Amino acid sequence: MKFGGSSVADAECMKQVASLVEAAAARGALVVLSAMGKTTDGLFVAARAAERGDLDLALSTAAQLRARHEESARALFDGAIPSELRTGLAMHFDALDVLLRGVAMLRELSPRSLDAIAGTGELSSTRVFAALLRARGLDSTWFDARDALLTDRRFGQARPNVAQFKDRVQSHLSPLVCPGRAVVTQGYIGATEDGLTTTLGRGGSDYSAALFGAALRVDEVQIWTDVEGVMTCDPRQVPAARPIARLGFAEAAELAAFGAKVLHPATIQPAVEAAIPVTVRHTFRPDGRFTTITADGSSGRIVTALAARGPITVLTVTSSRMLEQSGYLARLFDVFGRLGVSVDLVTTAEVSVSLSVDADAPLDRLLAELAPIATVEVARDRAIVSVIGERLKAQPGLPARVFTTLGDIEVEMISLGANEINLSVVVRKEIVGEALTRLHRGLIEVGGDA
Ligand code: ADP
Ligand code: ASP
Ligand code: MG
Repeated sequence: MKFGGSSVADAECMKQVASLVEAAAARGALVVLSAMGKTTDGLFVAARAAERGDLDLALSTAAQLRARHEESARALFDGAIPSELRTGLAMHFDALDVLLRGVAMLRELSPRSLDAIAGTGELSSTRVFAALLRARGLDSTWFDARDALLTDRRFGQARPNVAQFKDRVQSHLSPLVCPGRAVVTQGYIGATEDGLTTTLGRGGSDYSAALFGAALRVDEVQIWTDVEGVMTCDPRQVPAARPIARLGFAEAAELAAFGAKVLHPATIQPAVEAAIPVTVRHTFRPDGRFTTITADGSSGRIVTALAARGPITVLTVTSSRMLEQSGYLARLFDVFGRLGVSVDLVTTAEVSVSLSVDADAPLDRLLAELAPIATVEVARDRAIVSVIGERLKAQPGLPARVFTTLGDIEVEMISLGANEINLSVVVRKEIVGEALTRLHRGLIEVGGDA
């Protein structure tokens, strides 16, 4: 059971989560928690302030986070925080202050330092929650995810060392998980073999849950959040969006990768490999609707959902040398590969290639390296809008419908994913809301099966 930031945002939310965990604990449960809502953002703010040398802001931001945890703990325990919890919180927040002082002194924030700072959120939320379960009389244990989730050294974007991770789960975690008990651990964080804290990237707690679930061979991975499952579009962008009952792994992965924040993009992979269903549920409406994601699941519709991602930058690379010259594309992509820039969409014409990259890609270096082989046109502040559905491939008329539905919205790039379940277009970022609203109305709300 994974609970996201809004599910553990304050004392009241934690009580609701505790009752859900109690109801499930008879079967034995691993509870994977995010940081209390917005804590990770706050930790990033503190870290960046320290990097600029603004130690006052860094420490006052950290103090606010500490106060918020203590306040929630006091609310949960009628003013008397159990001493074990008091000690646990003090340990994490004292370490945070030391880290921030170090960063401020050096004015240097490496990804490695940032991970050590960012991990404070999950370490602290799990301390509070584990104490709550114990106080309610449930057999429960706090487990340090870093004792099991061994990762590579890609700080900020770490990936598990699969064999070591499985071994550690077998030796350290499996023996603790048993019927009648809840084990509470952190999402988002892991550690290198030599014990340095790493993170899996923003939103990574979903990924942690899927990794732990697969390694423990659980019956189900439950992602508890603030919506009734995966919906036909982000309800914050299109209020008419509605929950999807069943979804295939491929569709879910595509949705996550193309911007549906409800799931971390890497979540699905470990679950697919272990053939474990993933459900997405609403913490505050546990008896409401929810989504079940399985390998052979399907929404039964042609267009399952819409997603949007941005801002992105589109590079149009033109060179007459492309004409009839083999190996040109290899040289082009080699530049992106060497700079570690990932490319999302690609379309090619006779003498030009358009590529989309994240807005924060190192543009100066890319342009410098591309200059000798091509001229490059840069279009910033764009976004990708994606139409996703398992049955898209069987619908030759769909692209035409997408364009009719978009009407006068200018489309700058089109791409039908190689798996043919994703039709993406690039538009100006300020028009994304309107594009999603039109597509949702035209392809999902009306239009019967499409
Ligand atoms: P958590 O803190 O529980 O991990 P997130 O904020 O990461 O929650 O994800 C839940 C949010 O994802 C929802 O509040 C919703 O606004 C957003 N979201 C984006 N796309 C979708 C979608 N297709 N279906 C449901 N929610 C979506
Ligand atoms: N707390 C982390 C974040 O905000 C991880 C997560 O919530 O999934 O990105
Ligand atoms: Mg999330």
